[in-house]
Amino acid sequence: MNGIISKNVNSIEISGIRKFYNKVQNYPEALSLTLGQPDFKVPSKIKEAIVDAIEKNRTEYTANAGIEVLREEISLYLKNSFKIKFDEEEICLTVGGSEGLFSVFGTLIESGDKVLIPTPAYPAYESCVRILGGKVINYELKEDFSINYEKLEELIIKEKPKAIVVSYPSNPTGAILTKEDRDALYNILKDKEIVIISDEIYSSLSFEKEYYSIAQFEDIREKVILVSGFSKMFSMTGLRLGYICAAERLMNGIIKVHQYNVSCAPSIVQWGALEGLRNCIPEVEYMKSEFIKRRDFVYKGLVDLGLDVNMPKGAFYIFPSIKKFNLESEVFCERALKEGKIAMVPGNAFGSGGEGYLRISYSYSMETLQEALIRLEKFIKKI
Ligand code: PMP
Repeated sequence: MNGIISKNVNSIEISGIRKFYNKVQNYPEALSLTLGQPDFKVPSKIKEAIVDAIEKNRTEYTANAGIEVLREEISLYLKNSFKIKFDEEEICLTVGGSEGLFSVFGTLIESGDKVLIPTPAYPAYESCVRILGGKVINYELKEDFSINYEKLEELIIKEKPKAIVVSYPSNPTGAILTKEDRDALYNILKDKEIVIISDEIYSSLSFEKEYYSIAQFEDIREKVILVSGFSKMFSMTGLRLGYICAAERLMNGIIKVHQYNVSCAPSIVQWGALEGLRNCIPEVEYMKSEFIKRRDFVYKGLVDLGLDVNMPKGAFYIFPSIKKFNLESEVFCERALKEGKIAMVPGNAFGSGGEGYLRISYSYSMETLQEALIRLEKFIKKI
């Protein structure tokens, strides 16, 4: 039957990250640096709180927005750690950041609505917008993966997009929003009629002392939506818990899409995250310090191999340029997999702006990273 799948869905592909990961399965001897899954275990207090929630039969639907104590705790956490202010009524727990993003886009987008999305970026933004019939307008990033503000402003004036996605700390580049970048972004957006969707799922893994976010400005809070979650923070990607923060006028819409999508986030995991925010921040700090060591190690290794690469300031990805090899990123990664037995994600999986790069996830053990760099060196010498 022709046309059984909607045109919008036919217009997208499964994520290039997954696609490449699936190929890796054919090479069991290959080392994979492809996934955004930290190798740390979920902090044991969180596990115990989840087991306790099961034993107390806290297994029913929660409120659509999630349990109140957790929303209060998130509100406190955002204020104390990042100077971001949302009350508990402005917070909705979601099934991972993924559902958070989809519910936000589902609330905003009508067919043909334009959404500004950076490139390179996490591929879900473009795909969600397309599934909903929206039109993706890419905005380019500079060499250091910060925003090109002049070009962005021109695009906003020309295209009049309904929303813009801002994504820092960045998957795939590891870039963060500096104070200057945040202020420049604010100056461009403050007077425009545009909704700002800020994906800050890696905020707990920002390696600089101060944290900057577009959600810190009180006077534009009516048009800012923050999407975040616990997958990376507590190394619990499979437990599926994220959240959306938005002022009432936006949340009134978001909560409806969220309700008809999933009713509520998993109840027992909400109790786990509550325990995590109250008592597991030292574990998060430990994971961060380990990621910084790995970042330093991989960065130095890549520089020693002669690759052009920016020092990541957050998340757990590094995005070296491979332009000098004159190979498309997909060809480079296929060959590295087959000939070098090392798997990395081709930059084009993150949009046109990612061509000429590859994404290495350093959410793997130091031993794996050491061996990976040895294999990469051998492979690069060969090509
Ligand atoms: N945003 C970004 C930038 C991500 O990298 C991811 C996961 N890799 C997500 C959102 C979604 O994460 P989850 O659904 O596991 O919370």
